[in-house]
Amino acid sequence: MEIFISDIPVEGLHHSGEFPASIFELSPDDSIRPMGKVSYDITMYAFEELVAFSGKLKGPFQLQCSTCLEYVDFLADYPEWTSDLDLEEGQKSFDLKEIIREDFLLNLPSYARCDELIEGRECPKANDVEAIEGTTEPPTSERPDVWDALDDLS
Ligand SMILES: [Zn+2]
Repeated sequence: MEIFISDIPVEGLHHSGEFPASIFELSPDDSIRPMGKVSYDITMYAFEELVAFSGKLKGPFQLQCSTCLEYVDFLADYPEWTSDLDLEEGQKSFDLKEIIREDFLLNLPSYARCDELIEGRECPKANDVEAIEGTTEPPTSERPDVWDALDDLS
């Protein structure tokens, strides 16, 4: 959605609406899965060298747990979202969709663990990770015993 900077009045330009999940253009095996429309309700203010945004962003996602790799539901809800866009010289417009897309991706928790995202959940692999971190010995490699095999030949 193209916004012309000259259309933004001094008191700000208000926009609200929804974008489809497809704006994210993420592959299905990405650790972030958009699960539906994202909504926005924002006001834009134009300054000499930047456009400032403030308002609300909300949308349903699934995030992949960094430990058990399961996807868990996460409602991104940013009721006091602010952002700004540095304008290049001569820039007359920008794509609001791109701003909102990038800001969701920046604000979503990265490398989250499912038990941090969902209250009361226990990550099924949490104990495995602690067990691995607790061991100091490197795993012994399974080496076929070639000398025994040579002895059998003689
Ligand atoms: Zn997990």
